[in-house]
Amino acid sequence: MSSKILDVFLKENLEDLKQKGLYNTIDPLESPNGPIITINGRNLVNLSSNNYLGLATDERLKEAAIAGVKKYGTGAGAVRTINGTLKIHLELEEKLAAFKKTEAAIAYQSGFNCNMAAISAVMDKNDAILSDELNHASIIDGCRLSRSKIIRFNHSDMEDLRARAKEAKESGQFNKIMVITDGVFSMDGDIAKLPEIVEIAEEFDLITYVDDAHGSGVLGDGAGTVKHFGLSDRIDFQIGTLSKAIGVVGGYVAGKQSLIDWLKVRSRPFLFSTSLTPADVAACIKAIEILTESTELNKKLWENADYLKVGLKKLGFNIGHSETPITPCIIGDEVKTQEFSKRLNDEGVYAKSIVFPTVPKGTGRVRNMPSAAHTTEMLDRALAVYEKVGKEMGLIG
Ligand code: PMP
Repeated sequence: MSSKILDVFLKENLEDLKQKGLYNTIDPLESPNGPIITINGRNLVNLSSNNYLGLATDERLKEAAIAGVKKYGTGAGAVRTINGTLKIHLELEEKLAAFKKTEAAIAYQSGFNCNMAAISAVMDKNDAILSDELNHASIIDGCRLSRSKIIRFNHSDMEDLRARAKEAKESGQFNKIMVITDGVFSMDGDIAKLPEIVEIAEEFDLITYVDDAHGSGVLGDGAGTVKHFGLSDRIDFQIGTLSKAIGVVGGYVAGKQSLIDWLKVRSRPFLFSTSLTPADVAACIKAIEILTESTELNKKLWENADYLKVGLKKLGFNIGHSETPITPCIIGDEVKTQEFSKRLNDEGVYAKSIVFPTVPKGTGRVRNMPSAAHTTEMLDRALAVYEKVGKEMGLIG
């Protein structure tokens, strides 16, 4: 017999979410997650995926994945420290370190997992973490897991960070203090002020941690936000995901050899969760090779992003202050935002609405994620739909 308390809890809470319009519905794809996707038999221009460079559907990665499976099978068979480390795991880590210009790197099963792993392997209850208020959920959970004191600073507010760092340092309460930030913030597309963060960190002896999930493959000719600012030797932890620009799945930390050595003996997902599959690893290696050899996909991504941004702005939409390909189209009102996204979908464009509580109240937006794989014709089609629906709903003149 199932638990009555659980039944009541689920019924009440699911109902509550549905009534508030916060219950996410999921549209399964009948196609790869490329620039055009098929949902319910309809082909839509896809402006919602993190497949920034189009690598998730790249033939070279697919072939590498198949070769990986043929050589090593479908599963790694164990956690990394028992006998689930294949030679290709080490090859991937070497390539990631070279790509990020660090001494070493360690791969995890996802970016989320990586933040859970890395923060709690180094920080504990005698420490403090200064965390940007808009940091990703996996950073927040990773911080919580560490049991350190979490001190949130106002988003990208360097005065606030400095004041809080000073206070924490001068209190003498903490063994270690870390400052942690996204490299690129995924809802607005703005870039963390890393040069200032590094200066504050050096002044107060803070450990620096940058989660570059949305910057890798995008900024710094693809090598990420830290390279973009030329700070490779001044950031302790460079976190990345293998699921967005790299087009596969997984996460990693790039940093000093001693840091990576420590994570290999102390980070729990590395010790207690089976390692990345051969197909994933082989495809990731191929992706890193492609990005190391040429910046062509990166250039195409920026061209497409600029094209879409200029087009939306010309139509009269508010696209916020993004500095990266992430292109929000800010509508404001939550209900209108959701209606707008639905109408875009009806007309052939898949662009998801993002509303409170993911973003502050009254700043609902439809978020567009252009990629290197879009053609100008696809982007023109999307812009024509934006114009039509925007005019019909009275959002633009
Ligand atoms: N960090 C940030 C900043 C992210 O945006 C994401 C993905 N939404 C993650 C971590 C998690 O990465 P993954 O999807 O590889 O688990």
